[in-house]
Amino acid sequence: MRKNTMFRLVRYFSVTSFVVFVIAVSFFASRSRIASINDLITVREQSNAELAQVYANIIWADYGEFIASAATLDTDDLRNSPTLAALDTILRTYTAGLSVIKIKIYAPNGITVYSSDLAQIGEDKSANPGFVTALSGGVASELIYRDTFNAFEGAIVDRNIVESYVALRPSGTDRIYGVIEVYDDVTPLMQLVDMRQRRIVTGLVIIFTLLYIILFFIVSYAERILRRQGQEIRTQNAELVQVNQKLHHAHQLAAESARLKSEFLSTMSHELRTPLNAVIGYSGIIIEGITGETNQRTLGMIQKINMSGQHLLTLINNVLDIAKIESGRMELVESSMNIRHVVEDVQAQIQILAENKGLTFNTHIAADVPQAVIGDADRIKQILINLLSNGVKFTEQGSVLLNIEWKNTYMLLQVTDTGIGIPAHAQDYIFEEFRQVNSSSTRTYQGTGLGLAIVRKFVEAMKGTILLKSEVGSGSTFMVRLPLKVETSERSAG
Ligand code: ADP
Repeated sequence: MRKNTMFRLVRYFSVTSFVVFVIAVSFFASRSRIASINDLITVREQSNAELAQVYANIIWADYGEFIASAATLDTDDLRNSPTLAALDTILRTYTAGLSVIKIKIYAPNGITVYSSDLAQIGEDKSANPGFVTALSGGVASELIYRDTFNAFEGAIVDRNIVESYVALRPSGTDRIYGVIEVYDDVTPLMQLVDMRQRRIVTGLVIIFTLLYIILFFIVSYAERILRRQGQEIRTQNAELVQVNQKLHHAHQLAAESARLKSEFLSTMSHELRTPLNAVIGYSGIIIEGITGETNQRTLGMIQKINMSGQHLLTLINNVLDIAKIESGRMELVESSMNIRHVVEDVQAQIQILAENKGLTFNTHIAADVPQAVIGDADRIKQILINLLSNGVKFTEQGSVLLNIEWKNTYMLLQVTDTGIGIPAHAQDYIFEEFRQVNSSSTRTYQGTGLGLAIVRKFVEAMKGTILLKSEVGSGSTFMVRLPLKVETSERSAG
């Protein structure tokens, strides 16, 4: 559809310009004809009026009274009157050689007193608007066309005539003694008007045709450009479709391989945990001395086995968590919980770590933090453990603080330490999996680079946000906002 529409430009242009052309030519031609005819009537009316004045002056003395009172005569008497015959002679004499082809004279009451056509004598014209106008002193004219016309010289054909009604008023007086109707033959002038109109139409046709030819070339050129661009767009579209298909395919492959990776990690982690639990469990039993005395050297080795085992187990648990999250198998387990109880659990674990490094560890929960909220207690606990154990791990002296506040619609968990801090360039990427500020093999701090990735994924799963403020050498603050619903029915949930 679009394709066709685009290439109809020349067709639309041709049709539109033809219509405009016809309308414009007809409009100009008819306007100029009307103007010319109006001019013609005005000019001829003026000369008719002047001519009428000449007749009025000539016939007043001898025929004025006859005309003024002729209406009282019987029609036949009038037709046979010798005065009328004399008047006819005079009028014909003075009219000879003019463009005036007929004259009629009316008495003031509208009765036709004189006409070159005898049959018209006696006709009543009192209701004729032209007559009425003339009687009141004005001039009324009209352009008429006649197939045949009874003129002074007999019947003539195919004539354009300007007929004017003018008052018969001798010069110097106000007395109107009759009305004269002058028939002025303007056929030659009308021929001039027609010729002029033909010239105008021809001129317009030539101008418009030239204009059309020029515009046609411009429009055809524009259409060629459009056609070419359309072709290019279609080619590009086809290419885009192909690229899209490839992208879609690549995306599917990537999603599939990510799923396989997560599945593999999850299976492997699971399989590794079983033997590892045996290593940790049995080495623990030996350390506790349940199996009897062990010499110091062996005990030291067994303790290292136990610690390494635990480290490995943490790593595997983290990998398992990440794999679960990525494969979309992690679901929040939400229930009514009290953050104070969660903090108590966490505190016990972190306190030992902090004391081992000689650090102060404090927790503060604002009084207005609700007793019961709906949330996933285990996941929140893990968020706190990951952040706090990092705080302890990356702090050599000073303190680690946990501060919890309630901000109307969300809970704000802040973990602040006075440790080594995180350089600005690393503040984004440390939340990615396996990323650490210093990942070289000579790094001081142990770790897998998964703790913060897990924290971020949990926070996102709970529709919360995590922010980091840190300065190298001064310490770091992690701010976690969790939008949690307040449990209203049970204010003191466990
Ligand atoms: P891990 O601690 O196991 O290396 P994490 O994902 O928990 O992995 O942290 C990633 C990295 O972010 C850390 O290796 C460390 O470089 C940096 N980091 C995290 N927490 C802190 C902290 N409180 N102070 C300084 N650096 C930190």
